[in-house]
Amino acid sequence: MNTEVNFHPSTELLQKFATGSLSGGMNVAISAHVELCKFCRQQTSEFEAKAAIDWLQMPTESDESDFSDLVAGIIKQPQIDSIGSNGSALNEIHMLDHSVRLPKVLAKAAAEGLVWKQLGGGINQAELSLDDETQCEFIYMKPGSQTPVHKHQGSEITLVLDGSFSDELGHYNPSDFIARSGSDVHQPRSEEGCLCFAVLDKPLTFTKGIARLLNPINNYRFRRSLARRAG
Ligand SMILES: [Zn+2]
Repeated sequence: MNTEVNFHPSTELLQKFATGSLSGGMNVAISAHVELCKFCRQQTSEFEAKAAIDWLQMPTESDESDFSDLVAGIIKQPQIDSIGSNGSALNEIHMLDHSVRLPKVLAKAAAEGLVWKQLGGGINQAELSLDDETQCEFIYMKPGSQTPVHKHQGSEITLVLDGSFSDELGHYNPSDFIARSGSDVHQPRSEEGCLCFAVLDKPLTFTKGIARLLNPINNYRFRRSLARRAG
């Protein structure tokens, strides 16, 4: 994958990724992008080192000098730069009518077995169950296909794995990480065909919604995170 990466996760998302405070689905999406993108790999390493230093520098009873060796050790530790430098960490798996090399984290998730559903219009979808807060799926768009115009209630993250697609706001190539908020209306279309991994804030559907309403804590957290994004 030598195509230039034009779209990256926000700094805020990379910081949350580095400190391990993302949902499972979002974590996988960013981990996959970081595996493919040297720029975000470096950023993440810096955030991880800084988070470790911040943690170690929190006031304690002990003499600060006790920690200096620890800090130095953490900074010296090899970061995830060693992954995928020659593509060897990417597994090739067969999807529909051709083979696609996947980032390791996605290959692992996909290895559990994918069930493809045809959504019509040349769009195929295979859901992955990665957490309780998001809907995660591979989307395969056949050449010349387009999705209906749509708008999501929450946010939608798309990582391009193979091929390319376009919408009103741009053209996206492999490794591009696209974030859309609920206010964006778009209609993705693909001339050459496209395999993506997508993470959506799960809207309150009837079946899931009743479960959530029976769980006040989850429901509160879900609505609070939506409110934060809206604000
Ligand atoms: Zn990036």
